[in-house]
Amino acid sequence: HAHGGAPAPRGIAVPGVASIIAVASGKGGVGKSTTSINLAIALRDLGLKVGLLDADIYGPSVPRLTGVAQKPETTPDGKTMLPLENFGLQLMSIGFLVEEDTPMIWRGPMVMSAISQMLKDVKWGPLDVLVVDMPPGTGDAQLTMAQQVNLAGAVIVSTPQDLALIDARRGVAMFERVNVPILGVVENMAYFVCPHCGGRSDIFGHGGAHAEADKLGVPFLGEIPLHMRIREMSDAGLPILVSDPDSPQAAAYRHVATGV
Ligand code: ADP
Repeated sequence: HAHGGAPAPRGIAVPGVASIIAVASGKGGVGKSTTSINLAIALRDLGLKVGLLDADIYGPSVPRLTGVAQKPETTPDGKTMLPLENFGLQLMSIGFLVEEDTPMIWRGPMVMSAISQMLKDVKWGPLDVLVVDMPPGTGDAQLTMAQQVNLAGAVIVSTPQDLALIDARRGVAMFERVNVPILGVVENMAYFVCPHCGGRSDIFGHGGAHAEADKLGVPFLGEIPLHMRIREMSDAGLPILVSDPDSPQAAAYRHVATGV
């Protein structure tokens, strides 16, 4: 900062929330939402008060991932919504507010106003950390959000494949452009352990995200295996850290959380 002292806050500070962490990916389907919910629970297990905001307005997945679907209540003055709760987390998702089969034809400005409402008009907290499951990609909506919310940092999720990595690199560049620190890169679906023979297969290759993180000079937070239980439990509304807390997969998420 030119005049010394602490840098000015970059965007909206959310009342009741000490720090906001974005979980982002260059493209959809790489496991950003699955990582978000498990990271939130792992941070809770570290003794923090944690909330999860599903800002993936194109395809909100927190209702499915948490099994929570009711409409949030509003405060008596009708001005703020109360977050829902499960697993000891405060939860908010655009999916709580609209029917599941409503077409989501969101345009840029509408996206931003939906996100800013979920930040400002929700009675969060007091929370140590709010994990924000970002919309996938590095377009205008993502850039606007990164600029307008006072993010403490961003976690980038990628699979080991080259194509996903190119997108992940764009993600890192986007956050750096708006001065949001990169907390690190997570390699999801890093390898597969056969439940029958125990043999390991690197389905999407292996180590690509780690190498990319090193190349970009950002921390590597760890790798999450491709595992049937992660998918099955996600579909059942039970994150693996809740259903199988003693599994190696759960340990992998906890390892990521300690790095964050
Ligand atoms: P994104 O938020 O990036 O679109 P999701 O978190 O919704 O991705 O994950 C996409 C699909 O892949 C979901 O069906 C999810 O259950 C599954 N999935 C994500 N990570 C894993 C993993 N490590 N092992 C197995 N399935 C996974």
